[in-house]
Amino acid sequence: MLNLYNTLSKSKVEFKSLNPGKVGMYSCGPTVYGYVHIGNVRAYLLSDVVRRYLEYLGYEVRLIKNITDVGHLTDDEVAQGDSGEDKIEKAAAKEKKSPEEIARFYEQYFKQLESQLNIEPAQYFPRATAHVPQMIKVIEGLIEKGFAYEKNGNVFFDVTKFADYGKLSGNTLENLKVGARLEEHPDKKNPWDFALWLKAPAGHLMKWPSPWSVGYPGWHIECSAMSTEYLGSTLDIHTGGEDNIFPHHEAEIAQTECFTGQKFVRFWLHNRHLLVDGKKMSKSKGTLYTLEDIKDKGFSAMDLRLFFLSSHYRSQMDFSWTALEQAHKNLQKINDFVLNLQAIAKSNSTSADDNFSIESFKINFEAAMDDDLNTPLALSSLYEFITQANKQIDEDALTSSDAKKILSFWEKANHVFGFILAGQAEIPEEIKQLIAQREKARAGKDFQKSDDLRALIEKKGFILEDTKDGMKVKKTDSRN
Ligand code: AMP
Ligand code: ZN
Repeated sequence: MLNLYNTLSKSKVEFKSLNPGKVGMYSCGPTVYGYVHIGNVRAYLLSDVVRRYLEYLGYEVRLIKNITDVGHLTDDEVAQGDSGEDKIEKAAAKEKKSPEEIARFYEQYFKQLESQLNIEPAQYFPRATAHVPQMIKVIEGLIEKGFAYEKNGNVFFDVTKFADYGKLSGNTLENLKVGARLEEHPDKKNPWDFALWLKAPAGHLMKWPSPWSVGYPGWHIECSAMSTEYLGSTLDIHTGGEDNIFPHHEAEIAQTECFTGQKFVRFWLHNRHLLVDGKKMSKSKGTLYTLEDIKDKGFSAMDLRLFFLSSHYRSQMDFSWTALEQAHKNLQKINDFVLNLQAIAKSNSTSADDNFSIESFKINFEAAMDDDLNTPLALSSLYEFITQANKQIDEDALTSSDAKKILSFWEKANHVFGFILAGQAEIPEEIKQLIAQREKARAGKDFQKSDDLRALIEKKGFILEDTKDGMKVKKTDSRN
């Protein structure tokens, strides 16, 4: 029984989909004006893990992830997400490109990054620029029903008309009146109202005709318009980073529920931020890392994947190179284990009792994942299982049918972990010849020559391990 922590109810609740066997899920995607940083990766991995585990449980998941290629403004931290400059236009001016070139370039970068991290692609990545008519339709409906108003070509959502405003974030009107730093707009009735449509100022490049002005949509409206377009009025799951709770998701709820008259999202899932040295990642402090920075230090995208899974998505997480190194070692351990199993599975070894059980691993793995996607616990049950199985392997007690049985469950569990493991490295002809020479030297008891040859082989990137089953050759870990 899967329980998920719902930000809306602030409790763990048993997950059941609206339509049996099918899940409609929406994840806030990137604003495509710059390279995605590893903090963002934590948000995309949350969405991937939920989806993969639902698939493991047998659900058919339809995931929609938007590409924000318009109108996401720079000052969204202080206001309702509708003041400041347009991030994409700002990047376009800086890089001397058109906003469209900027958006397409960084969208491509984002999709390649997801693929390197083995994040399953969404069924559809709707672009905001291609859905302006749908947004206009929702805004028209909101004006018609009295939830929104127009002034001087700008349209705002009147927050006082939605009694449930604040139910997700706790930022009710009462609380907002006291503390929030909200920016005044001369056309707003109340400072906490948020923009649905803004008239384009002179020189603004990305703009569309509308019943109110030539302008552009507010940031929040795109997710309401696109999620309901592809998933219907009520979604099973909506995910995003914790900074999205307010104002973005609070605004999504207000405008969608007022438009459709129905509950918008059944389960809201939010990951906590990734910090560096206890602080927000910052470009100016040099702590805003990209996947390329990680790879420059010799780590792989899979090391990063395991690093993230080693922490629960709702816990505080700090990035450190030491933690990444540990993730790298753990991935090596998993990799070696699977390679060993594959070799044993091929060996046709038998024994009187073919009874190595995967049952406890399966039970622990599922219990961990059922408890709000506790990936660190699921991983520790895997490490524990590897230790047990390795003991059997060392004692020659694991048969080929045991190995096949483990591999078959491993494939299912790894559908959830999503690791792409490095297969057995090809041994080049040159190394094979050096190994043969070393064997000959050993047979002739020329141990000096044998040691020299081993050193030469290691220099060329391969390690020899003399085991009781004979000699094994492995490619040197690129990190060592
Ligand atoms: P953005 O492109 O800024 O809209 O961010 C894309 C996603 O990444 C959103 O779901 C954010 O909440 C999330 N996010 C941004 N920074 C971090 C961070 N440091 N750690 C985790 N998630 C983040
Ligand atoms: Zn969104």
